[in-house]
Amino acid sequence: MTTEPVAAAPETTASARLLGLLARDLPPDRLTTDPAVLTAHATDRSGTRPAGEPLAVVHARRTEDVTVTLRHANALYVPVVPRGAGTGLSGGATAQEGSLILDLSGMNRVVELSADDQLAVVEPGVITAELDRAAGAYGLRYAPDPASAALSTIGGNIATNAGGLRCAKYGVTRDSVLGLEAVLADGTVVRTGRRTVKGVTGYDLTALLTGSEGTLAVITSATLRLRPVPVATATLAAYFPTFEAAAEGAYAITRAGVEPALAELVDGPVLHAIDPALRERGAALLVVQCDGAGAAAEAAAVARLLAPLATTVETTEEPAEAEALLAARRLALPALERLGRPLIEDIAVPRSRLAEAVREIRAISARHNVPVFTLAHAADGNLHPIIVVDPSLDRLPETAWEAAGEIFALALRLGGTLTGEHGVGVLKRQWVAEELGSAAHGLQRRIKQAFDPRGILNPGKAL
Ligand SMILES: Cc1cc2nc3c(=O)[nH]c(=O)nc-3n(C[C@H](O)[C@H](O)[C@H](O)COP(=O)(O)OP(=O)(O)OC[C@H]3O[C@@H](n4cnc5c(N)ncnc54)[C@H](O)[C@@H]3O)c2cc1C
Repeated sequence: MTTEPVAAAPETTASARLLGLLARDLPPDRLTTDPAVLTAHATDRSGTRPAGEPLAVVHARRTEDVTVTLRHANALYVPVVPRGAGTGLSGGATAQEGSLILDLSGMNRVVELSADDQLAVVEPGVITAELDRAAGAYGLRYAPDPASAALSTIGGNIATNAGGLRCAKYGVTRDSVLGLEAVLADGTVVRTGRRTVKGVTGYDLTALLTGSEGTLAVITSATLRLRPVPVATATLAAYFPTFEAAAEGAYAITRAGVEPALAELVDGPVLHAIDPALRERGAALLVVQCDGAGAAAEAAAVARLLAPLATTVETTEEPAEAEALLAARRLALPALERLGRPLIEDIAVPRSRLAEAVREIRAISARHNVPVFTLAHAADGNLHPIIVVDPSLDRLPETAWEAAGEIFALALRLGGTLTGEHGVGVLKRQWVAEELGSAAHGLQRRIKQAFDPRGILNPGKAL
């Protein structure tokens, strides 16, 4: 169990005083206590139950709204939960009793888009795909592409250090964040990082805040790196007789030194859930995309590597056909949602251990009699074993917890991590100390203490 100070539910008088101060100091449309709005902002897409009723929602529209909110909340020891679009899968944006939800989705302007310096300055509520679209007008793109890009915000992506399909080649969100404006718990505005491609002055606070899950500061602006849209792409879809063979194929690509832009692995049960006809084509599907001037040659090399292991390999350089090959991956989650409530796990293992992880997950699934559906960002060793539960159940069945616990233990045993991209939130907190070790865990808590001495920022999350 964790023991760091966690802001308790505030006294009623503190809550009432805070509401009075916010009503006085914020513009009139910012504060709401409407129960329907509170309910809509109390949890995220993980399905985690909020730990209590929030006090109010502040809809921030500018940095001053954030500074005013945090200054008053900090003075009165009231917990604050920063929130983007609420698409998180780890319970990071869930409310606790008496907390203030700080909704950043209304701070949604692209402030600057510089084709010359290949960067954008954006407010945190900008939707990920919209930034990518805006950059596209200049022949550029924002590389991180979580599957939730049409809904999630840049602020949420930074706070969770989100990954995505393209991070196989272009890295995770942290690799695209050059600088930040953030508001500390006491309302102080800090600027971190730079506009240059390189720069090493001081500690790297930009990297520290990226992935801090709203526990260290509230991000109010981000300077983001953009990259040229690749001149060409070539996409392959390969079906395999077993999931292990597909995992071995994915690792063969890495071992050969080929760097695809994406490599997505879908297992047989997921294929069946999408369309039984797909399952008949193989027990696993690997979709690989290569990009850049050498895309066609790289794709041909990948096809040669996969051929001895695969049943079929199909390649295209046509964007529309590529979309059709990727459709199975994109349809996976909606297909599982039709079966029940998907609990999406998110472990990552060294890429050389991918096939072993796949085998072990299958054994865990059989041992607990819990069906596990698996997707993977194969080039990163990032696996999403998904347990689908009956949505009418009040609580997660004990067997599902046990299977999930064994999957986390497996990740650590193979030299991997509890979470490749979704974050710890509330769901994985009990396993964090085991992965970090007590010295590093203690150091991280002291960092939290330095940023947020009263423990008001997203208490009970991440550490
Ligand atoms: C269908 C689906 C597909 C997904 N695919 C992916 C994927 O491919 N890769 C991936 O990484 N994730 C994926 N996710 C998870 C989720 O979309 C990401 O975690 C995303 O980054 C969350 O963004 P958000 O704006 O919804 O943040 P929220 O869910 O609102 O918040 C997430 C966390 O960030 C904090 N936060 C939000 N905004 C700020 C801010 N401005 N300042 C400080 N803290 C803040 C919150 O307190 C919380 O801890 C998926 C989710 C869904 C539903």
